[in-house]
Amino acid sequence: MLAHTEIQTLQDKFPIMKEILKLKPVFWVNPKAKKLEEGSFSLGHKDVVEAENLWRRYTPFFKKVFPETKQLNGWIESPLEKVDSMKNELEKFYATTLEGDLFLKCDNKLPIAGSVKARGGIFEILHYAATLAQDAGLIGKEESFESLSNPEFKELFSEYTIGVGSTGNLGLSIGIMSAKLGFQVNVYMSKDAKQWKKDLLREKGATVYEFTGDFSEAVTEGRKKTNANPKGYFVDDENSKHLFLGYSTVAFRLKKQLDEKGIVVDQDHPLFVYLPCGVGGAPGGITFGLKQLFGDHVHCFFAEPVHSPSMLVGLLTGLKNEVSVQDIGIDNQTAADGLAVGRPSIFASSFSEQLVSGIYTIEDDKLFQLLQLLAKSENIYVEPSATAGFSGPFEVLNSNYMKDKSMQTEKATHIVWATGGGLVPEDEMNTFLNR
Ligand SMILES: *Cc1c(COP(=O)(O)O)cnc(C)c1O
Repeated sequence: MLAHTEIQTLQDKFPIMKEILKLKPVFWVNPKAKKLEEGSFSLGHKDVVEAENLWRRYTPFFKKVFPETKQLNGWIESPLEKVDSMKNELEKFYATTLEGDLFLKCDNKLPIAGSVKARGGIFEILHYAATLAQDAGLIGKEESFESLSNPEFKELFSEYTIGVGSTGNLGLSIGIMSAKLGFQVNVYMSKDAKQWKKDLLREKGATVYEFTGDFSEAVTEGRKKTNANPKGYFVDDENSKHLFLGYSTVAFRLKKQLDEKGIVVDQDHPLFVYLPCGVGGAPGGITFGLKQLFGDHVHCFFAEPVHSPSMLVGLLTGLKNEVSVQDIGIDNQTAADGLAVGRPSIFASSFSEQLVSGIYTIEDDKLFQLLQLLAKSENIYVEPSATAGFSGPFEVLNSNYMKDKSMQTEKATHIVWATGGGLVPEDEMNTFLNR
């Protein structure tokens, strides 16, 4: 925890900090947001294209091994749905007209892991497996992974151990994929992780370690244990280029989905995307990918719980991963387990500080109300973390953001990212709905 005078200094320097410390919902516009080409990044367009090519090499394998991907031709992708009934409910809830169209990116329906973590987590495991298989001479550098289910791959992978620290969903995605490929896999779960997630992982063949500390502590411990093993590989959610790239590739497929629906994104038709943010990898990677394709015409906003505003505090102060919410006296206690992160990723925050348009916070009670509205109006069931995006359009419309940029509100398209909930058991979902 910082000294009282240091916290006072931060409040004097950044007036919005007073509201953040009082756990009041805030809306912050990023003063350092710049054009992609004016930014300085450790990755470029070429990396995103290469990542997409790696996914493509695996599609024959997915089609064969995960039948739920057959319809998608072996791609791990989710639908983009227009949610008019939810829009009506939201307009009543916020007593404001939502100008422009509202879509939901249904990552709760992503195959295999039922959350946005399928994008980053599975990609990082695929990348690691490809490197091992290529080095062992089992496969050529451009070859497809159709033969990946052959026994010689499993034999090779079984010598290696994958570790990951998680609040739940990343553990699920890494655990399920690693076990399927034949790796040994250890998942280090923070105290927020739900029992059913641990049970499911054990059932899939992962070893689960339970911690009494939060996400950062589970990651620190997992990193130490995994790196002590010469054949260990740690998926580091606080600092991972591969997770980030895995998330970024959705941009190609989202563009296709928008094209198919005849939705134009240009100067006169801005695209607004609202992304729940934990450590920042998923929203940061998606933002980076979207900026590659849509440039200045896409505006990405992150959403965090009022009790876990880690990216907001990191970017507002410029301290990024050098400050945690606990350092300033905020408890990181939220029912949105996927967002229960006290300190942002160093890798992701270095991108987002240049690309995110803004960040807002939301109270836990609102998350549950939004979850119930979505279930009632659209029959779509998500987890609490996944609803944080819904207040975004109203935050933006109530601010001067669009006015300052001379945008016509009715020509905007709003996409709320539903980041997870696909694997939530029925009884757990009922407690969400009855809360
Ligand atoms: C992990 C997660 C997020 C946020 O992703 P980060 O990479 O941690 O920022 C959002 N929603 C859900 C459901 C998640 O599991």
